Amino acid sequence: MKGSLPILQEDAAGSCGPVQMNISSSSEQPEAFGGNAACITLGCAKNQVDSEVMIGVLRNAGYAITSNVEEADVAIVNTCGFLQSAVEESIDCILDISELKKSGRLRTLIVSGCMVERYKGDLKSELPEVDTFLTTDQVLEVANATDATHPLSDLLQSSQRPYFLYDESTPRILSSSTFTAYVKISEGCDRPCSFCIIPQLRGAMRSRTVDSVVHEVQQLAQQGVHEVNLIGQDLTAFGADRKTQELSTLLSRLDTDTDISWVRLLYAYPLGIDEQLLQTIASHPSICTYLDFPLQHASLSVLRAMKRPLGKYAPKEIVSFVRSHVPQMELRTTFIVGFPGETEDDITELEQFIRDSHFTSVGIFEFSPEEGTDAATLPNQIPPEERTKRRDYLMKVQQECVFASNNRRIGEKYDVLLEGQHEESDLLLSGRAHYQAPEVDGQIIINDIEGDYVPVRGDMVRVEITETAGYDLIGKIIATEI
Ligand code: SF4
Repeated sequence: MKGSLPILQEDAAGSCGPVQMNISSSSEQPEAFGGNAACITLGCAKNQVDSEVMIGVLRNAGYAITSNVEEADVAIVNTCGFLQSAVEESIDCILDISELKKSGRLRTLIVSGCMVERYKGDLKSELPEVDTFLTTDQVLEVANATDATHPLSDLLQSSQRPYFLYDESTPRILSSSTFTAYVKISEGCDRPCSFCIIPQLRGAMRSRTVDSVVHEVQQLAQQGVHEVNLIGQDLTAFGADRKTQELSTLLSRLDTDTDISWVRLLYAYPLGIDEQLLQTIASHPSICTYLDFPLQHASLSVLRAMKRPLGKYAPKEIVSFVRSHVPQMELRTTFIVGFPGETEDDITELEQFIRDSHFTSVGIFEFSPEEGTDAATLPNQIPPEERTKRRDYLMKVQQECVFASNNRRIGEKYDVLLEGQHEESDLLLSGRAHYQAPEVDGQIIINDIEGDYVPVRGDMVRVEITETAGYDLIGKIIATEI
């Protein structure tokens, strides 16, 4: 049926924008007596989970949840504070939303998230438009924050490091779809990376229990979720705060004790990748053979300055180590370029490493000297325009490599999770294979269906790849009973 319009039956959820929450109509909304509430999320998937918890708390407190902030009586802006550019984006968003207060529609503006942790007490005077600031420890206090007279504990003045961690009993409403979910298995980080401010913003590493994560994933599976992406600042340290390494145990339990089709690991710090973890991934069918491990550089001298030890491995060796145990492992990584002291030779080494390693996906970021980090005060800072030049150059290299690797996938067949109609055309569908994480990786575009199957968002189908389209692939559905 090439060229005809694939009819996509709606399941409970609509498609999702990256910023505003899209609340599924299957999220049973109790009678609303508090008014309408909306949440805008900036930053990463970890922040998205916090937003979903706040929206769950507000729904239980009697608010109707809306994805249209212009209809809201209460709006939350859940900010990012990782980089200066993210802080600026957060402030712009807060100022935009505060305009709705002037028209009288919006009653209460709440600001939460990492920017609040970063600037804490300074914010009240800098942003008087905001009614209440919530620290990351006050996620569960969001309903009280809607009442200007409620005496919230003033953690903005506290020097205590964040400690909050949600669990399976915490209210939560999924915001992106009914069939995929992020599950935060830990919070905070104990690593000393010299460029990173996250440990100051999110506190020390603390892990949920294996049982808590398994129970949450069981609940999600009962709700119709097929795909779970495990997240945390440092997944491979899961359990370290209890003096154990429990990531392998968790993966085995998720495979045997839940009905989830795909479990994917995001943000695995390379140092914690060991034989047991790789064998666990390889031997449990629902655990995707996909590893997102941020290597950050190939040059040992840059890695030393970043305070990113790789233990007994050099970057090349850790890639070989992973592939020697799981040859089919799809590897995603990220690099930071323009770090203080980085030389032209370091860039050449990184380029060669990218060319040799056949990564499935590579993110390249410019170093940002963030106030409060050690790296911001290191000598030999690279000028911003040179950082951009190095990033642009390496982006072209990784593009060549990813496009070549995509070409090798023509003729391959993958199970694909159907996500909906393609954003550029109603004549196309889009979905993802096991090696494509939501939002960060490419996707599979479907332009043909064999037989008379009527596609449904959230279905798992078999797709044969026929062409490439840049970072994406194009294919046809060849089977639906998988
Ligand atoms: S491991 Fe990640 S979150 Fe932790 S300090 Fe390093 S870069 Fe930051």
